[in-house]
Amino acid sequence: MKPETLAIHASNLVKNTTGDVTPPINLSTTFFRDENGGYPGGHMYSRVSNPNRSALENTVAKLEYGEDAAAFASGNNCGMSLFQALKPGSHIIAPDDMYWGIKKQLLTIFNETLEFDFIDQTDLNLIEKSIKPNTQLIWIETPSNPLLKITDIEEIAKIAKAHHITLACDSTFASPILQNPILLGADIVMHSSTKYLGGHSDVLGGILVTAKKDELWEKIKNIQQTGGAVPSPFDCFLLCRSIKTLAYRMKGHCENGKKVAQFLVNHPNVEAVFFPGLATHPQHEIAKKQMKDFGGMMSFLVKGDVDATSKVVNSVKLFAQATSLGGVESLIEHRYSVEGPDSKTPKNLLRISIGLEHVDDIIADLEQALG
Ligand SMILES: *Cc1c(COP(=O)(O)O)cnc(C)c1O
Repeated sequence: MKPETLAIHASNLVKNTTGDVTPPINLSTTFFRDENGGYPGGHMYSRVSNPNRSALENTVAKLEYGEDAAAFASGNNCGMSLFQALKPGSHIIAPDDMYWGIKKQLLTIFNETLEFDFIDQTDLNLIEKSIKPNTQLIWIETPSNPLLKITDIEEIAKIAKAHHITLACDSTFASPILQNPILLGADIVMHSSTKYLGGHSDVLGGILVTAKKDELWEKIKNIQQTGGAVPSPFDCFLLCRSIKTLAYRMKGHCENGKKVAQFLVNHPNVEAVFFPGLATHPQHEIAKKQMKDFGGMMSFLVKGDVDATSKVVNSVKLFAQATSLGGVESLIEHRYSVEGPDSKTPKNLLRISIGLEHVDDIIADLEQALG
């Protein structure tokens, strides 16, 4: 089945006894055993598994062409669980432009148990050179946050395979509709389902999908089920509901995104635009090769200092000035002030998540804010 069809049908392929067309929310934390001690419903206790979470995991595993998936209570918890599954002393090659919250885990939680380097992963030679005997994981994020850098998944997968290193890809900005890292050779894909999968800024979650149920994956599933940072049945229900429209929402985000990027490129008060769909983007050709379309995320530099940038971000009327991304409503954010003084993000950078409002209204708002 095509992604549009899978997204609608994968979460409710099983007919249940009450005949619901839309699957119910199964709030029960525990499930009946039979005379032989078995679990006829296939579930024992809802931390380990429950029908709504299984539906979500099956759907996203299919959309990402993986063998299995593990849903967590947040996107960040995907990073936590994968890092916890590595042998102490392992070395990780991570990107220099990386989702700040997961980078913070390495710097402040795993700093005594793991080794890591943050490098420019658009440089394949540098990746090769950074490999050590104890390198166990290459973590990539493409498109990256907040500079929208693109890393070549297929080429990095070749390097990882040759050295028996696991390749994990944070594919949140792309969603499973625009990019499928497993098809390009990645071992694990990660999504913050808080973003495009949820799509309505009302549910927090994360999900890992694996190409193969290998030893590392068994450890990750154990951390999910025994560690217990799992999403509630209601969160899983909301995500399954949202995923049904994912393919069509992505079409709208992509269509609006391209028009907004073009508007910003031509605006005299904009110094630079970071959007992989622009022919001038340094990795545009790689983006074209590995993505079906370019999404609705972009960043731009306001001409002027931090005050000029604050003025723009404080003048928007339609955009909500808030962190996060991937929802139906357009969001704008001054990344530097979210990330704090250690951040390398330029002080005049604004990150925008283009929503599904009419593109003329989105552009009109940016136009009046930019002056
Ligand atoms: C939001 C985000 C995360 C973290 O997800 P949460 O659901 O907020 O914990 C990780 N990676 C990227 C690229 C994100 O945008």
